[in-house]
Amino acid sequence: MKYYDKLIFELSQEGRKGYSLPVNKFPQSPELPVQLQRASAPRLPQVSEPEVVRHYNNLSQMNFGVDTGFYPLGSCTMKYNPKINEEVCALPGFAGLHPLMPARLTQGACKVYEAMNAALAEITGMHTFTFEPCAGAHGELTGLMLMRTYHMMRGDLKRTKVIVPDSAHGTNPASAAVCGLEVVEVKSLENGRIDVEALKPLLTDEVAGIMMTNPNTLGLFETQILEIAKLVHGAGGLLYYDGANMNPMLGVVRPGDMGFDIMHLNLHKTFSTPHGGGGPGSGPVGMTEEVAKGLSQIKVSGFHGNFGVILRAYAYILSIGKEHLKEVGQYSVLSANYIKECLKDVYKLPIEGVCKHEFVFDGLVNDGGHDDVHGATTLDVAKRLLDYGFHAPTIYFPLLFHQSLMIEPTETESKETIDAFIEVMRKIAAEAAEDPTLLQSAPHNTVISRPDETTAARNPILKYWDTL
Ligand SMILES: *Cc1c(COP(=O)(O)O)cnc(C)c1O
Repeated sequence: MKYYDKLIFELSQEGRKGYSLPVNKFPQSPELPVQLQRASAPRLPQVSEPEVVRHYNNLSQMNFGVDTGFYPLGSCTMKYNPKINEEVCALPGFAGLHPLMPARLTQGACKVYEAMNAALAEITGMHTFTFEPCAGAHGELTGLMLMRTYHMMRGDLKRTKVIVPDSAHGTNPASAAVCGLEVVEVKSLENGRIDVEALKPLLTDEVAGIMMTNPNTLGLFETQILEIAKLVHGAGGLLYYDGANMNPMLGVVRPGDMGFDIMHLNLHKTFSTPHGGGGPGSGPVGMTEEVAKGLSQIKVSGFHGNFGVILRAYAYILSIGKEHLKEVGQYSVLSANYIKECLKDVYKLPIEGVCKHEFVFDGLVNDGGHDDVHGATTLDVAKRLLDYGFHAPTIYFPLLFHQSLMIEPTETESKETIDAFIEVMRKIAAEAAEDPTLLQSAPHNTVISRPDETTAARNPILKYWDTL
C-alpha cells in the first residue's frame, strides 16, 4: 500500500490546519440560538492544504475511465468523450440558462432542440423525438407508454402484452413490467436471431407490440426484420426499436425504414457523451407521426430533459459531419471483428460469422482446469485484465451462455491500442492454461482486489467512523 492510499483520517494530526480565516473585525459576534449550537467539535481530519490536494488527486486516480484507458465494456459503447463537447456546453449563454426562463430569452436553446430533433430524425428515419427521458431505460418506459397510449386512443384496450426476445437487453422486460405490460418471451435460434416461426403464434390481439434490440445483445444484426415488421403490424401491434447501441448503424440503415414505430437512442453511448459514473444520460425517444399524436399526454421528467447532454451530443454530430457519420459505424464494426478473429482460437466463439459493434465469447478454450470447478473462469479473465491496465469487458451477460465475455471496442481506439489488448488477452489465455491460480487470485495491482460485490453494494460503509 502506498502512503497516500491511506484514508485522510489516518493522516490527521491534532491541531494541523489546511485553511486560514481573516481576523474577526466585528466587536460582537451574534450568538447562535442554543438549539443550533453543536455540543462537541466536528470530527474532521486535521490536515494541511497539500495533504488535502494529494488525497483527492490520489483518490481520483484509483478510478478508471475512458480518459484513463481502453474500456471494452460490451453493450455500453464506451467511446471517447471529445473535449470540444465540454467547451460548447460551458459557453456562458448555455451554461447560465435556467429552465424557467421565458422562451424569448432561450431562443438559442430552442434552436438546439429543433436542430437536434431534425438531425436525429434524419439519422433514424423517425418523424419526431421527445428529449425528456434521461436514460435509455427511461426512454424505453416512455416509448412503451406511447405504445399503450396509441392503442388506448384507438379504443383498443386489451393490448397488454409485449413481446421481448430472450436476447434482449435486461432493461427491456424491466421497462415493460414497470409500464404495467405483461412480458412474453420469444426464443432465439441457434444463429442468435429471433425465431420467426416461434413468434407467429404469439401474435394475438392482446399484443401491444414487440421490443427489439438491433444489433441484438450478441452484436448480431436481426436479418428477418422486414418479415417481423409485416407480421407484427398485421396483428395490430407496434414495433419498438432499442437503439441504445446505434453505433454500427449510423449512416448505414434507419429503424424508420425497417418499419419501426417507436425507438430510443442513448446519447450517452452512440453520441459520445459521458456515462456510467461519469455523468447524466439522455435517452430521446423517436416516433412516427401516428404515435406522436399521443405525445402530449406523456410527461416523464421535469422541464426538457438533460439539456447539457443533448447539447454535447449535438456538438458531436456537427463535428463528425453528415458525410463522415457512416465511418463511425464502419470502424466500430471493423474493430470488433478484428478482435474477434484474432482471439477466437483461444476464447470460445459460440456463434461464427460477421458481428456488428460487439461480440460475445463463452469463456476460455483452455481454462487450465481438469473440470468446471478448477479452471479459470470469465470472472478470472476479467480480473486479470485489470492487472494489465485495461478495463474488463462485460461479463456473464447476455445470459444465453454460461461464461459470457462481451467485448465492444468502439471506433475511437487506435489499431495499436487494440493490438495491445489482443496481446494481453492471448497472454492471459496462456497463463490460464499454465497456472489458473494466477488468474484466480487477480487482480494483484489494484488498491482493492476482490471485494464481496453484493455486500459492498447493499451495505456500503460511507463514513470513516463506521469503519472503527
Ligand atoms: C445501455 C442499454 C440500455 C439502457 O440504457 P441506460 O441509459 O443504462 O438506462 C438499454 N438497451 C440497450 C441495448 C443498452 O445497451
